[in-house]
Amino acid sequence: QVVEANQSRSGLLSDIRTPIKTDAFHDHYSLIPGRELGRGKFAVVKKYVEKCTGKVYAAKFMRKRRKGQDCRLEIIHEIAVLELATSSPWVVDLHEVYETASEMILVLEFAAGGEIFNQCVAERDEAFKPEDVRRLMRQILEGIAYLHKNSVVHLDLKPQNILLTSDSPLGDIKIVDFGLSRMVSSNQELREIMGTPEYVAPEILNYEPISTATDMWSIGVLAYMMLTGTSPFLGDDKQETFLNISQINISYSTEELQGIEQPAIDFMKSLLIKEPQQRATAEECLQHPWLQLPPPPKEAEGAGDTASGQTCSVPLTISESGEGEQG
Ligand code: ADP
Ligand code: MG
Repeated sequence: QVVEANQSRSGLLSDIRTPIKTDAFHDHYSLIPGRELGRGKFAVVKKYVEKCTGKVYAAKFMRKRRKGQDCRLEIIHEIAVLELATSSPWVVDLHEVYETASEMILVLEFAAGGEIFNQCVAERDEAFKPEDVRRLMRQILEGIAYLHKNSVVHLDLKPQNILLTSDSPLGDIKIVDFGLSRMVSSNQELREIMGTPEYVAPEILNYEPISTATDMWSIGVLAYMMLTGTSPFLGDDKQETFLNISQINISYSTEELQGIEQPAIDFMKSLLIKEPQQRATAEECLQHPWLQLPPPPKEAEGAGDTASGQTCSVPLTISESGEGEQG
């Protein structure tokens, strides 16, 4: 049988073109003191400045051994996916990779605005406005459509893995964390990968095949959270959350959704569907009426001479590193 040369059975890519540097990372980068940017079970992300350029990056330190298992190939896959997505402005850029005896270090474009999670749960005045949600959701969908077109499923889409280039003024999104991502191919089934309880689709809980539609479920949850600041299926414990998901225990007439525009609710309804094949695809979502609503007229901003109806939401050339910091 034919197995694609660069793809193993488990949906992992194994070919990368980024050179893996083995000289000392700390000779080339200095830590910027302060809180670490993030931390997961096996990774910690910290802010560094590249000595020779003065540019700021996020360095993701990933342990190669996890629970006594060698996970180097999974990290190589994460690198390969970032490489595959370099031409999408909505996926974080990979600058360099270092390797030590125990770790791999991914030097990533720094997303200065942090996780969209923070705005999701913020007080009303700091929370996203409906037009922000529409603009950011379009970017997320364009990023995901690009990945899906290239047979990559993210499988861990949640507000902690969608970052912002800046938070005030609100910048653009960057999708991060391809640690659970997989290649989906027509000739082999993928099951069993586990995301984060609140955001996983019913087919994951039921050990049914995973597909690009699995991400689309999570997009539905994400939309709900960005619009309401609450998590639609979260129960008091894991069991209850799983039950809520597998029973699609969601009400569209709750207090949380009061005042949310009907097209946005229809959008979520087209995704939070048990049967994966019936969910809207990323491309279909981009055509959804909710996302066709025109952006609000620009506020006069000094030199601003924007004709009504014209927007600046088309991505300008996204360069190598964190824009939006200088403003
Ligand atoms: P994990 O696999 O441990 O979840 P992530 O790649 O999601 O690792 O990184 C963990 C956290 O670190 C993210 O949720 C985010 O808060 C922060 N982070 C990751 N990458 C960046 C980046 N490029 N810029 C700024 N913060 C980042
Ligand atoms: Mg993460």
